[in-house]
Formats: sequence, structure tokens, C-alpha cells
Amino acid sequence: MDVSYILNHFGEEREEYYGAVAPPVFQTSNFCFKTVAEMREKLKRELETPFYSRGFNPTVSVLRKKVAALEQAEDALVFSSGSAAVAAAVMSVVKAGDHVVCVEKPYSWTNNLLTKYLSKYGVTTTFVDGKELINFVNAIQPNTKLIYLESPNSLTFEMQDIEAVAILARSKNICTIIDNSYNSPINQQPITLGIDMVIHSATKYLNGHSDVVAGVVCGTKERIMKMMAEEYMTIGGIISAQDAALIVRGLRTLELRVNRSAETTEKIISFLENHPKIKQINYPFLSTNPQLHLAKKQMKQGGALFSIVLNAEKTEQIEKFCDGLKRFLMATSWGGYESLIFPICALGASKSFENPLPWNLVRLYIGLEDADLLIEDLGQALDKM
Ligand SMILES: *Cc1c(COP(=O)(O)O)cnc(C)c1O
Repeated sequence: MDVSYILNHFGEEREEYYGAVAPPVFQTSNFCFKTVAEMREKLKRELETPFYSRGFNPTVSVLRKKVAALEQAEDALVFSSGSAAVAAAVMSVVKAGDHVVCVEKPYSWTNNLLTKYLSKYGVTTTFVDGKELINFVNAIQPNTKLIYLESPNSLTFEMQDIEAVAILARSKNICTIIDNSYNSPINQQPITLGIDMVIHSATKYLNGHSDVVAGVVCGTKERIMKMMAEEYMTIGGIISAQDAALIVRGLRTLELRVNRSAETTEKIISFLENHPKIKQINYPFLSTNPQLHLAKKQMKQGGALFSIVLNAEKTEQIEKFCDGLKRFLMATSWGGYESLIFPICALGASKSFENPLPWNLVRLYIGLEDADLLIEDLGQALDKM
């Protein structure tokens, strides 16, 4: 299906809503019925029809159809955060006594879910360097039920060969989940490579306006409806109709935003590549990246998130660079319209980041501002170091 059609029209039942062009916000917790017979009938199908908004809500339904179509999945669920989506997806696959193989350095709260939370319920996890397929092969145990990927990860950007891991997992009847937030469905479509479930932090590219926290899981109708009946309805980490409508609005420009940010990122990387204050750039499409062939094989283009390692002796120099930037906001998250900087040296002894990262690593996100303005700003701040 054409992406622009999905973003602008697909899934919107306009004739049911007086021809409203923008989907109405169904700001209602429940739906009412005229007869017992009708209520009984609707209750039987409460996951597929308006009954109670913890289950089916028509505004949320429009968003579910769009994100599923974007990932070429049969169905999708939308949650109140990316982390809620990760937790529901993983918990829909594993039970006590099961084993998970997870790529090393996943998103911090995914790491927490596996090591601190699910471990309490008897689920064990092995973390592997995902650059080599053999590491997955060696980590698989007879009770392995899930392989969890993040390609690339969102701080150092190592990738996994998604298709190869999917083939391995299928041959052993192991479910696969990938966090595809970095790429958005515009740049990488893991279901077409054989992955079972795809997750997004919709807080990032999908909404794109830094005003909603949300998450998405895409998969087969069977997997999604089972997750809806179990994790979604039970734990109840749902998205509100208001937030769903905001994400539908954000999606209108998804392709434009992702492409524009990627273009600007290419220009900024060309500038930084030759700068004497830059020791290393971590970015899938960097010409010297040993995994460049893999990036080209499975991704359409790079995302707008990358990290740099600065040539510095002291933390103060990193601070001078970051504090000296005028056009980048210093903040966590990414995927919005605004360019951002996230210095690892700000983490201090933060408990949620347990993987040792270089103190002189700084993550940048490139938003929708003009490339020349951003380059000029980076240049003057690097000079201040
Ligand atoms: C932000 C992020 C998450 C978590 O999403 P929230 O919406 O913040 O809960 C998960 N994975 C990746 C790669 C992220 O960047």
C-alpha cells in the first residue's frame, strides 16, 4: 500500500462520522445500548467494537490501522508509552521458566524489564553482541522462547542482520521481537524480513511533535488479539483518544519529517567527519562503518540520531561544547521537530544506564531546522572546547 495513502486516508471511516475530514476524538469511557440483546451481542465482541474504551475506541482504532499498515502487519495495538508496549509484547511471549536472548545494550528500561522485573517471575535472559549471528546461535537454550532485537541501538548504533536472525529463530520455533523506533516504518520494515512483532516508541518519530508519550506493537492478527485479551486489557496501559488523535495528526507528515531529518543529518555528518575535535562518529551509514553493507541491505536510509566521541581530556571540555550550543536543546528523547543534544557525562551515576559508555560520547538528534544553521552552531561550539 502506498505510504502517503496510509498516512493521509487509510483507516479513516469518514462516512461514519458525518464526513469529518479529521477523525473525531471519541472522548468517552463507555458506549451504551438500547436492548439487552444488543448489549449481549456487543459484549461478545468487546475487543472489536465500541463497548468500553480500555478495549476498543474508534479514534484509537484509526491509529492502530495506520501503524499496522505502515509496518505491513495485520494488526497493531497502541499503548500509553513505548515501555508499556515493550513490556506487553515480551510478556505476551514468555512465562516462568522461559529464556530470552536479547541483543546487548538495549533501551535502558527494556534492560530493566528483563533483568530486574521478569527475573522475579522466573524468566532468564542472555545478552549477546548482535553483530555476529553465531552469538545468537550459541546463546539459544532448549527453553529459549524469544529473541529480542534493537537494530540499531539508540546510543552506539550497532546493527543485527535481521533476516538471518529471523531465519534462525523460525527454524527453532522461537518468537522474534524488534524495537524499530530508530528507523520508523519509513526506513526499515522488519516484518518483511521475517520478524514476528515490531515495537515503536511512538513518542519519537511516529508522533514527532514532542507532545505525546506512546508506544506501538505490530504483528499478526492472532498475536495482537491474544495480547489484547491478556496484557492489554489486564494491565490496561492504553492510550487516550486525545493522544491517539494527536499521533494521527503527527503521522500526516511522518515521511516528510523522516526524509528531511535524514537529509540534514547527512550534511551534518559530512561536516563533523572532517573536524579535528571529533574522534569518532557512530552512525549506521557512515562511510567507514564496518557494518555499512548491513545498513544498506536492510535500511532505506539512516535515522537522524547518531553519537559522536569528542577529542577531549576533561569533562569540562564536553560541558563547554554542549553548553555553548545555541540551536540544540539539551534533553532526552528524540524524534521530534527540534534538534537535541544528550551528553553521556550528564548521566553521572544514573542507575538506569548500566552499560559503560565513554564519558566523552554525546548523542545528537537532528530535527527540522535548517542544516546550515545547525552546522554553524556546531562549529562555534566545537571551537569553544
Ligand atoms: C524512547 C525509547 C523507548 C521507550 O519509549 P517511551 O515512549 O519513552 O516509553 C524504547 N525504545 C527506544 C529505542 C527508545 O528510544
